[in-house]
Amino acid sequence: MSENQATMAPQAEGQAPEFDAIVVGAGFSGLYMLHSLRRQGLSVRVYEQGGGVGGTWYWNGYPGARCDSESVYYMFTDHMSEEILGEWDWSERYAAQPEILRYLEFVTDKMDLRRDIQFNARVVSAVYAPERNRWDIRLADGGAASARFLITAVGCLSSTNTPKFPGIDTFAGESYHTGAWPHEGVDFTGKRVAVIGTGATAVQAVPEIAKQAAHVWVFQRTPNYDIPGRNRPLDSGYAAGVKADYKDLWQKARESGFGLPYQIVERSAVDYSQEERQPIFEAAWAKGGFYMGLETFSDYLVNRESNDTVSEFLRSKIREMVKDPAAAELLAPKDHPFFTKRPPLENGYYETFNRDNVTLLNARTTPIEEITPRGVRMGGHEYEVDAIVYATGFDAMTGTLFGMGITGRDGLRLQDKWRDGPRTYLGLTTRGFPNLFVITGPQSPSVLSNMPVAIEQNVEWIAGLIQHMTANNLAVAEPAQVAEDKWVAHHDEVAAATLLLGTDSWWVGANIPGKPRTLYPYVGGVGPFRAICQEVAEKGYEGLVLTRHEAPAPAAAGG
Ligand code: NAP
Repeated sequence: MSENQATMAPQAEGQAPEFDAIVVGAGFSGLYMLHSLRRQGLSVRVYEQGGGVGGTWYWNGYPGARCDSESVYYMFTDHMSEEILGEWDWSERYAAQPEILRYLEFVTDKMDLRRDIQFNARVVSAVYAPERNRWDIRLADGGAASARFLITAVGCLSSTNTPKFPGIDTFAGESYHTGAWPHEGVDFTGKRVAVIGTGATAVQAVPEIAKQAAHVWVFQRTPNYDIPGRNRPLDSGYAAGVKADYKDLWQKARESGFGLPYQIVERSAVDYSQEERQPIFEAAWAKGGFYMGLETFSDYLVNRESNDTVSEFLRSKIREMVKDPAAAELLAPKDHPFFTKRPPLENGYYETFNRDNVTLLNARTTPIEEITPRGVRMGGHEYEVDAIVYATGFDAMTGTLFGMGITGRDGLRLQDKWRDGPRTYLGLTTRGFPNLFVITGPQSPSVLSNMPVAIEQNVEWIAGLIQHMTANNLAVAEPAQVAEDKWVAHHDEVAAATLLLGTDSWWVGANIPGKPRTLYPYVGGVGPFRAICQEVAEKGYEGLVLTRHEAPAPAAAGG
């Protein structure tokens, strides 16, 4: 048997099981990766920290959680299974978390994926052994395994961030982080609740919590430009139309900038008069969703003057919706341009501040001082509450990878290699870590796109490379230094041409004290990124050093 051939090696008692590939995470990306490698006849084991599939949709069960991409474009395509695509129908324009979770469970069962997934299995170390060309994995429960390929499918927003407020452990009431929500749900009926944060998560949660709670205090440090989502039951005619046309629409999404098949018009707002711009903005406002950013004018991220026009339009809408002028002014962002932080989609968020039981607080001018046993102290006042909801985001894109103890050649730890910021080739690989592949990693489009589109491309590229290695009896893949340096330079150059680095956001790591400030996702667009990756593959995986393994292959590795 060649060393690239499949099958799990026979295992002596007590010996760690050996696989061709280990995938970490069973969300969208892990499920598709498992399916793609199994299809090649490889032995694959998925380790998932949660008790079920779903990834982000397993953990983020907070009230109001739903997808900000339209559900008809937030799913696996026919590349995964034509049958599933045909069988599944969404109920709303933006699917809520329970429905997405049901979908992922449906896919898992339909594709018989569960048998290769180990749940409640947190990877705490992953060490590359060069003499065996294998990754040795350890789990929190002491379990162990090894594989030639290690593929992280851990999502971009999976390590929660809770600011280190003084006194945080002294609070006597209930504390929740939105990214680790109790699966049994939380009943806020009649309770006094503090919500800290006003990002995309809080914008979804606050209206729902306010419907139950006696009172909600929203601690806002930075307001966002929230766009109306205009969620509604999905029109079956529209959904059927998308299904009938899905091959073209998905291809369009794959070739687009942000992974959505929208009509991008290349034009600048500065070339239009205020009278001409207004109906364009109003049309996108009425439509709801990311159309505001994608189908009005195309240069918001690179032209401050153009951006000012849409930013002012959005501020004017906030002033119309919120009755209290002081609250409206506080909610209207002035410190950053539109879309330089991820704009949340809102379904009733602004109107929530017209309710008597909701109070907006300015945590910018008077930062939160401490958490006390009874609540939150800010500006010398103690807000007494029964529950605190931390909607304070994530250590995005690198937090979970660094928490896995990934150690490459010569004992190099990933967090040491990336101490000054990620260094990758295509966001998918990094030198010093042979056969490690990162799905939706830093320096790939990932969060700057509709995630399933970015995921599909990443997974298929990795699967294609592994297939190429098998076919050519190659065992080790690692980027050349020059290729990695070139990719980082290109990534940085594209980022520097935008307004993104000038705004404090999690996209640039600004939410985590001490995190290197750099743009984490690649802003060149999913379409152009796909083309680059395709060209790399067509040129025999140019930039990667692909070799046979030189050490004698151990018998247990199936060699
Ligand atoms: P986030 O965007 O990072 O927002 C965290 C919030 O907490 C911000 O308002 C932040 O204020 C605030 N905060 C952090 N530390 C604070 C402190 N010490 N004092 C006061 N406020 C503090 O996190 P998120 O809302 O969870 O969203 C993260 C990302 O998840 C989104 O951008 C989006 O990509 C994704 N998401 C997607 C969906 C969807 O599609 N279904 C839904 C929700 C979230 P500052 O802004 O001042 O830092």
